[in-house]
Amino acid sequence: MFLFQSVMIVPIFLIQHFITMKNTTIKIISIGHITHDVLQIFTEKPQELSFTPGQATEISINKEGWQNEKRPFTFTSLPNDDYLQFTIKTYPAHKGVTNELLQLKKNDELILHDVFGAIAYKNEGVFIAGGAGVTPFISILRYLKSKNEIGDNKLIFANKTRDDIILKYELYYTLGKNFINILSDETEGRYEHGYITENFLKAHITDFSKNFYVCGPPPMMDTVEKILANLHVDEKLIIKEAV
Ligand SMILES: Cc1cc2nc3c(=O)[nH]c(=O)nc-3n(C[C@H](O)[C@H](O)[C@H](O)COP(=O)(O)OP(=O)(O)OC[C@H]3O[C@@H](n4cnc5c(N)ncnc54)[C@H](O)[C@@H]3O)c2cc1C
Repeated sequence: MFLFQSVMIVPIFLIQHFITMKNTTIKIISIGHITHDVLQIFTEKPQELSFTPGQATEISINKEGWQNEKRPFTFTSLPNDDYLQFTIKTYPAHKGVTNELLQLKKNDELILHDVFGAIAYKNEGVFIAGGAGVTPFISILRYLKSKNEIGDNKLIFANKTRDDIILKYELYYTLGKNFINILSDETEGRYEHGYITENFLKAHITDFSKNFYVCGPPPMMDTVEKILANLHVDEKLIIKEAV
């Protein structure tokens, strides 16, 4: 999956959401795989850090030659947690930061940079994610669940295979029948097969006047935005992270 391969360019519209933070070194508390290629990293949390669910920060690794290699990752912990959590899909073939993260262990250090992000929860609606594009929604959904406000929010999650679904049990537990999966590369009884299409969305969504939250790789974003336009969804209702 070429998810997020073009993320070196942070979209200009994100700039307005920047919160400048002094570079802060934090220790890894624990690190491990939660899918075959996704790491979950818990770290210390700097006292001065604040963020809203859905926001991201730039991270580099505090290791010779890697301190200036910053990459954006979303906080998947809650703002009031006394730790930070990141959920990171790794790309060994890029030989970049996510590959280097695979070598890290407890007590190794990361450097946190600015906090930013275009995605913030407004009202009940439909979350549409592709692969690691689910990360801002993990934080938002955890936040809503912590306040008992999950309501009728729905998550449509597109992946290649069942094994690529990040946190499937937690998301199912949180959303129940409102957790809808679609797999492009695998036919699996319980899940829809193929890519997100207009008919697929019409089959799963009855109310197109709600908020739509969209995050994923550029081709998926383009497709979904075109479909939503065809379905006459008001542009102002679409909240998206172009990564
Ligand atoms: C706001 C935002 C939030 C994000 N949050 C998350 C998150 O929470 N979790 C998550 O998993 N991801 C997230 N991403 C995506 C994440 O930032 C990228 O996956 C990450 O930057 C990849 O870094 P990398 O150094 O491993 O690879 P890259 O920076 O993509 O690549 C390193 C180098 O590898 C080379 N390269 C690029 N593509 C290929 C290829 N196909 N094959 C071989 N070499 C290649 C290039 O020379 C490139 O310079 C987010 C992105 C944005 C914009």
